[in-house]
Amino acid sequence: MRLAHRSSSWRKVRFALRDNHFPFSYVLRNLVILKGEPAWQKLSSRRKAIVMRSVLEKRAHFFLRVREWLKKKGGYQAILNFSAFSRERTTLSYCIHCGGCCETPSGFPDFPSESVIPQEWKNLFSEGLGKGHRFCPFLWEYGKTGMSLCAIHPWRPNPCRVFGEEDCNFVLEDSNLAHVTHGRQIQEASETLLKMIRAWAVSQNA
Ligand code: SF4
Repeated sequence: MRLAHRSSSWRKVRFALRDNHFPFSYVLRNLVILKGEPAWQKLSSRRKAIVMRSVLEKRAHFFLRVREWLKKKGGYQAILNFSAFSRERTTLSYCIHCGGCCETPSGFPDFPSESVIPQEWKNLFSEGLGKGHRFCPFLWEYGKTGMSLCAIHPWRPNPCRVFGEEDCNFVLEDSNLAHVTHGRQIQEASETLLKMIRAWAVSQNA
């Protein structure tokens, strides 16, 4: 029974990883952030692998739930079309989809009354996905480009709506953002995570 649960969990992870909008780049950034934390450095290698796997697993499972909900609502494509995805600032938008403003595990759950997402998800916005998670439960990635995509953009909470250009400039100038997007750090995180994923896949096929 336990084995069946584990393999169905792995299937979901594999399925989510195949989706173009699964936030894999942000999971890597999540790992870079964790690696910089003193508490992480005290963990054994085994414990680190357990936390990483749990972060990926929970993220993937929740991603699929949100995706299913969006598809049922006919909102999946609409979300993808919602913003003009660009890394350039334009006269219409200062957002370059760096994802820095969503790189927070939780926020104040003040949602507009017309925000029809499940109450449980509003609570989740406030509580986050749990131990080891360092970015918003609703942050996706636009087509494996590294650009951020808010899965609940039309229903997003008020703190995200009032995040203005000045706040954005502050995030862009923050050295922490440069650190988590730095090529070498990302490369190392990618090697660590892919190794963990391969070991997981092998254990499922054993
Ligand atoms: S709800 Fe959307 S805009 Fe707000 S932090 Fe999460 S992903 Fe970013």
